Amino acid sequence: MTSRSDGHDTQGDARALFYRRYRYQSVSRSLREQRRRDALVPAELAAQSSQDYCEQLASHLRELLSSEELRLVGDFFVGLTDEPRFSASIEPVGRSHLILVHRRLFNALQFVSDVITHPRLTATEQAHHLARYLSALVLAASRGERLSPHLPRSPDLESVEHSIASSVVNGSLFRFVVSHELGHVVATRQLACGFTDTDAHAELLADAFAFILPLRETRLDSVSSALYFSTSLLAPFLFLYLLSAFEQLLAVVASSQPATSHPPSVARTGALLLHIQRDLPQHIASQAEQLSMLWEQFFRQIVCMTNG
Ligand SMILES: [Zn+2]
Repeated sequence: MTSRSDGHDTQGDARALFYRRYRYQSVSRSLREQRRRDALVPAELAAQSSQDYCEQLASHLRELLSSEELRLVGDFFVGLTDEPRFSASIEPVGRSHLILVHRRLFNALQFVSDVITHPRLTATEQAHHLARYLSALVLAASRGERLSPHLPRSPDLESVEHSIASSVVNGSLFRFVVSHELGHVVATRQLACGFTDTDAHAELLADAFAFILPLRETRLDSVSSALYFSTSLLAPFLFLYLLSAFEQLLAVVASSQPATSHPPSVARTGALLLHIQRDLPQHIASQAEQLSMLWEQFFRQIVCMTNG
């Protein structure tokens, strides 16, 4: 066991934390280059690292943060781990932060994106695909399986257009997840309220921050802009209802839920909508409400199919 160092993370604490908690499948190239000298990344794991996707996302989000927010979070890096968890996390590493998206969540976001953008599947067929996937995911999670060999494969990509649509949706989901983790540091430190990681309010602040951050983008042409903003509005609700369906199904099969720092996702969606209605322009609020209703119905259907 290690003792807390009164909120002061020394380089040694960070290194110990890093080794203890994570086995890396990959981390961003930035992390590899910048940290190799400090031996923060085990050499054999750094050698496997190739995560342009994570790196591109991190650099995009860096550009959207204000200088004050950048000062609060320091530099940050995004990586994937092989942890079979349906979650993401943020940890201090020295003066930087490391955002980790765990493999099971990362794969699920890809699956969902491929299915809901599929040009030939009806909404009901899409729901069936997701119901099968979620059942297998919940079964693996409830048994504590490290691998998920029985997870269905996503339907084949149909065309270049399908591939583009899927990657745009997937990008917006991934952006929401990573922005939420950034929100844990930025939003809570900005308010300086002394929230802890287990405070439900901190989760809601992180969601609100993650909703707003991508909308700050101003450099897109009109075509990419329409696509970017519509998927940025959609992603938080798609993600939270997906998570909510997972939680509901897991509660049915698992006698005891794993400890989580997050309030139920349905509560998060409601709180996010309230925040949007209060603080954002009416046209954004009404789109958000419609998207929320749409995904709520879709995932309710999926939970019924899976339980039935
Ligand atoms: Zn969180």
